[in-house]
Amino acid sequence: MALYKEQSLKLYNSISREKEIFKPINEGHIGMYVCGPTVYSNVHLGNCRTFISFDLIFRYFKHLGYKIRYVRNITDAGHLENDADSGEDRIAKKARLEQIEPMEVVQRYTVDFHNTLQKFNNLPPSIEPTATGHIVEQIETIKTIIDKGFAYEVNGSVYFDVLKFNKDHDYGKLSGRSIEDMIANTRELAAQSDKKNPQDFALWKKAEPQHIMRWPSPWSDGFPGWHLECTVMSTKYLGEQFDIHGGGMDLKFPHHECEIAQGEASTGKNPVNYWMHANMLTLNGQKMAKSTGNNILPNEIFSGENDNLSKGFSPSVARFFMLQANYRSILDFSNTALLASEKGFNRLMDAYRNSSLLPVSESSTFSVKEWKQRCYDAMNDDFNSPILIATLFEAVKFIVGVKEGNEKITAEDKELLHTTMHDFIFDVLGLLDTTVANQDNSEKLSGTVELLIKLRAEARNNKDFATSDQIRDQLLALGIQLKDGKEGTVFTLED
Ligand code: AMP
Ligand code: ZN
Repeated sequence: MALYKEQSLKLYNSISREKEIFKPINEGHIGMYVCGPTVYSNVHLGNCRTFISFDLIFRYFKHLGYKIRYVRNITDAGHLENDADSGEDRIAKKARLEQIEPMEVVQRYTVDFHNTLQKFNNLPPSIEPTATGHIVEQIETIKTIIDKGFAYEVNGSVYFDVLKFNKDHDYGKLSGRSIEDMIANTRELAAQSDKKNPQDFALWKKAEPQHIMRWPSPWSDGFPGWHLECTVMSTKYLGEQFDIHGGGMDLKFPHHECEIAQGEASTGKNPVNYWMHANMLTLNGQKMAKSTGNNILPNEIFSGENDNLSKGFSPSVARFFMLQANYRSILDFSNTALLASEKGFNRLMDAYRNSSLLPVSESSTFSVKEWKQRCYDAMNDDFNSPILIATLFEAVKFIVGVKEGNEKITAEDKELLHTTMHDFIFDVLGLLDTTVANQDNSEKLSGTVELLIKLRAEARNNKDFATSDQIRDQLLALGIQLKDGKEGTVFTLED
């Protein structure tokens, strides 16, 4: 039976502002869309946090046995400098500054994004569509929205009519903003634009002569508005209504609010059942951002070449650091916190390795079965990775206890403990054991030591004590201690 049938998962839905029991539209199947990067510069650690948060979610759903289609886009056109409808396209600007083709910019930073996420052991999404690959579909959706009466053309650009939409829909329901506040906040900008109202947003922009990223359309040679690509690509691959839409907290407004409006205007249906937002990584208390320069690049973490760092840290340690915080909490980056995470990470990995090497007894002093369910309970409670990690550390403590002879474990529990740790540490949290390809090696090590124990027993039976002592002493010199007991010989590894 699929695990999801046994585990009841709750997730925090940003739109209801409550934890809700998760129920997908089609049993056993999940459609999840997450806004991807705008590929005009190297991803910073803050971006990585959001994608690691959704990787945790993706991994847990997979672990539960769901068939999940995870769509994450690449924004390679339409995202203007100030997240609004004016200013230069971010990619075109970079291309102009570097005197290269916009698609060279896109290629360079898409490759960087993939390489970086791979280092963090993120799984690739099922589909990774690009905005420029879906211009035709975006034009079709604009036509539909115009036909339904929620958009208008001015001077070759098309705008979404927010006030009209808001008459019988609720624009602002995701971000909790009222239209009156929005009107009050945008009044002074009103004069500069073709828009009927300043809160309207662009679906299509006519390109200025110098704008190089342009496509023909019924309205002008131009380019799509930033919010439109996500509406078009999510519904193309997941259907008009799908289960989960995610992104960083900063995308709630205007980006996701506009997506809801576009979806409802074009299909008459609410496009998304569960909205999930990952919180920000900060540096010195300020959001990490490309634009302010207040950020750290992943390669700087790995090499330690950054003034905020005393040394380099492995990608898995950095990932572990992020997963020690709930994805909905703000996390402040610091060298001290990373040092502490590294210690914890190493302890966890040591304990995992030792979990296959523990001496077994007739009874257990720890309920491994209950502990395993508590690991699930943590993740079932809105993917609470810090609680999961704390629960894993209960096992770490127990493993040390068994090693030191203060606790006992049966052979059956030892197997369950080892496989459960494996599932949660590697499959769900997505950590990699960096101290050699360790899991495999620990199994090889225990096989080798078992063989030596057998040879030593044979030597003893043959009264060849020189050989049996040599095996014991040389293993001890390597930090592997053999202990002879009633149930045979067991071994322990010294720290
Ligand atoms: P962008 O390429 O700027 O569109 O950002 C890609 C993703 O990274 C979006 O989901 C953002 O919400 C997210 N993001 C940007 N800055 C941070 C940050 N400091 N912490 C966490 N996520 C971030
Ligand atoms: Zn998006």
